[in-house]
Amino acid sequence: MTDTLVFRAEALVAAVTTIVRAAGSSEREAAQVAANLVEANLRGHDSHGVGMVPRYVDAVLEGGLALDAHVAIRADGGALLTLDGQRGYGQVIGAEAMALGIERARLHGVCVVGLAHSHHLGRIGHWAEQCIAAGLVSIHFVNVLSRPIVAPFGGRDARLGTNPFCVGIPRPGSEPIVLDFATSKIAQGKTRVAYNMGLAVEPGTLIDDRGEPTTDPRYTVVEPTGALLPFGEHKGAGLALICELLGGALAGGATGGAVGDGRRRVLNSMFSILIDPGRLGTAANLAAEMESFVAWMCASPPGAGIDRVRTPGEPERETRAARLVAGVPVDAVTWAEIVAAGAKVRVAPGDIEALLVGR
Ligand code: NAD
Repeated sequence: MTDTLVFRAEALVAAVTTIVRAAGSSEREAAQVAANLVEANLRGHDSHGVGMVPRYVDAVLEGGLALDAHVAIRADGGALLTLDGQRGYGQVIGAEAMALGIERARLHGVCVVGLAHSHHLGRIGHWAEQCIAAGLVSIHFVNVLSRPIVAPFGGRDARLGTNPFCVGIPRPGSEPIVLDFATSKIAQGKTRVAYNMGLAVEPGTLIDDRGEPTTDPRYTVVEPTGALLPFGEHKGAGLALICELLGGALAGGATGGAVGDGRRRVLNSMFSILIDPGRLGTAANLAAEMESFVAWMCASPPGAGIDRVRTPGEPERETRAARLVAGVPVDAVTWAEIVAAGAKVRVAPGDIEALLVGR
């Protein structure tokens, strides 16, 4: 086990903004990237939080991530938008793509958004939450272009990305439903966090380089690599394939496999459907049915070791509330990697320390 440091969210935002700015982004972009990553930490998804900074800095330095890029409209069919993220920071591209989709869904009642070639879009729930804030239901299929990391059902090696799937449903007067998960048994970043902390992963999560079961997270972090297994056996593997085909191909991007030109990067393509329940004429029905169904479902007697049944999105809100008070934990290895990433773009460790003092 390695040590864990604890930071206030504002301090982490300041430190990450400084590093991303030093890597060449505008102040605005740096602030947007930092806020998004720290939000992922606050919501308990450390795999998609500040620990991504070293990968982003490497991607910038190697030319795989375009600075201050914006979404380009490739096809505009009114309620159908095909967008290109131009390898820009996913934190900016995702927000711009959803803003365009929200505008169109307000106009037409629905918008189908194909977004190709974004750099890493981070926690996909963030984009569902943007739609929820606009009163929209949204469904997102995402594929990941990096080295393959997930085995197909019955396979012995990696052929798929961790291809996340997400649904957001606003609940008038109540907290929304946000179902947001990788189609691998756990997100790849969680194996990196486990590796950095010297922890084993649960049995049934990984196979090694020979396709045999292992609990050692090294097999997704250092060579020779093995593969994560899909969640839910053939069902999760099937959903991962659909994310590849809709999130990748239908959205206008590429399907899996290595990116191919040797530059390190993580590209995401996302196929999203944004729906205005008011325009569908079912908003009142949705609200009433959802309240009674959710109450009934959550009244199920809790199983052993469980305090109560929760809805998707609740654990993240609970973690957020706790971490806003107690601070955000970052393991020492991840923190050292972030400081080293800063040094690559000439941010001295002392400068980062100075940003943390008093915050
Ligand atoms: P996870 O296994 O923690 O599952 C999260 C989902 O399950 C959430 O909707 C959560 O609210 C719900 N949940 C968890 N515990 C629950 C409980 N007790 N009761 C009810 N619901 C519960 O998530 P994951 O698969 O590790 O994914 C983590 C994050 O990684 C996601 O935000 C995902 O979007 C992101 N991700 C991104 C990429 C990318 O390339 N951009 C790739 C993979 C994953």
